[in-house]
Amino acid sequence: MSESQRSRMRIAILGATGSIGRSTLDVAARHPDRFEVFALTANSQADALAQLCAAHRPAYAVIADAARAGALAAQLAAGGLRTRVLAGEPGLIEVAAMPDVDCVMAAIVGAAGLRATLAAAEAGKRLLLANKEALVMAGPIFMGAVRAHGVTLLPIDSEHNAIFQCLPRGGASRIERAGVRRILLTGSGGPFRTRRLSELAAVTPDEACAHPNWTMGRKISVDSATMMNKALEFVEAHFLFDAPAERIEILVHPQSVVHSMVEYADGSVIAQLGNPDMRTPIAQALAYPERIAAGVQPLDLAALGALTFERPDFERFRALALAYEVLRSGGTTPAIFNAANEVAVDAFLRRTISFTRITDVIEEALAGVPSGDVHGLEDVLEADRAGRAFALDRVRSGMLRSA
Ligand code: NAD
Ligand code: MG
Repeated sequence: MSESQRSRMRIAILGATGSIGRSTLDVAARHPDRFEVFALTANSQADALAQLCAAHRPAYAVIADAARAGALAAQLAAGGLRTRVLAGEPGLIEVAAMPDVDCVMAAIVGAAGLRATLAAAEAGKRLLLANKEALVMAGPIFMGAVRAHGVTLLPIDSEHNAIFQCLPRGGASRIERAGVRRILLTGSGGPFRTRRLSELAAVTPDEACAHPNWTMGRKISVDSATMMNKALEFVEAHFLFDAPAERIEILVHPQSVVHSMVEYADGSVIAQLGNPDMRTPIAQALAYPERIAAGVQPLDLAALGALTFERPDFERFRALALAYEVLRSGGTTPAIFNAANEVAVDAFLRRTISFTRITDVIEEALAGVPSGDVHGLEDVLEADRAGRAFALDRVRSGMLRSA
């Protein structure tokens, strides 16, 4: 092996078959001199994972649904690949913490990614964090592990990646000392920003997933339509940058070109701009502190003409107002908030509840599930279970009412 090959960064991609996973592979494949795809994981799509393995030849493939491990191994062998197969959550955790892995892209959607993402932090990996739900649920534990193990934590969420870029180099966790007045967290407002309120109860999953600017997985697309995504990002920004709620302002920016901003004490506002393409934050994080090509079209500001900003409508998007309550309450409340949303979004995508019921269910769970202190991961997991059980019950009782 040549010197340059040995110095390549070995990457494990958790959630490789998803939208972020595939964009990460796209960027990595543009720079074979820098990156070695070492491990790829998927939930249950053995075929899709096998195809990615054929293209990228990782040392390990992990399938979370252990029942599919045999089928995956057979497909890999048939393709003449020597990729080793691991299964279940233990397999995800194993690759996230493997000594041979330098960098972990945490791109599993939802609470399902929490343990593996945390394992990567505890193993001191360079950590590219897309799985915002893991951080929202377990913020203090997660950031504690990041500090204790000297983790280079690079946010992938485009807004947080933008904020990171607008802060002084390596600027996480020190907004006070950096002279920051406020973080301006932008959001497009999603597909229903101007839809008549009376029409929202009847919108379909496909309409909700048709985001005006971004192509993403279905769960985050629905979150963008309720603006629960921005609510989760508000909590995410709080933990990532150690920023109190009153220092984070949500700003609606329908064009999704300014990905967020940082306002300083002297009145300067620094923004990060770019076309809405997740390969930009992914490339920024993969190469940090260097810069590499991402395959993204240059931004044509003259063609865009105007960038607009407006204050969010807290009545239309009640999830935004709930985010403030969630931070005030603290403890296990963010985990309950996230769990209820995951259950409600899943029910909406299955057409079990209406679009407007999603936020109702979240609100009901916040009122109905007692919040507690977080002493360890078990408290977070218990709150997640309780939030899910409560939300599922609300989803089912709504079904009975409408039957
Ligand atoms: P996606 O649905 O496209 O992909 C999810 C991935 O997670 C898939 O590989 C899937 O196999 C895997 N997965 C799902 N459930 C799992 C389970 N129970 N166990 C193990 N693996 C499981 O989602 P996405 O849009 O790529 O989003 C991934 C994460 O990145 C989310 O947390 C999302 O909020 C965040 N994010 C996404 C975007 C985007 O543009 N897509 C932008 C910002 C942040
Ligand atoms: Mg985002």
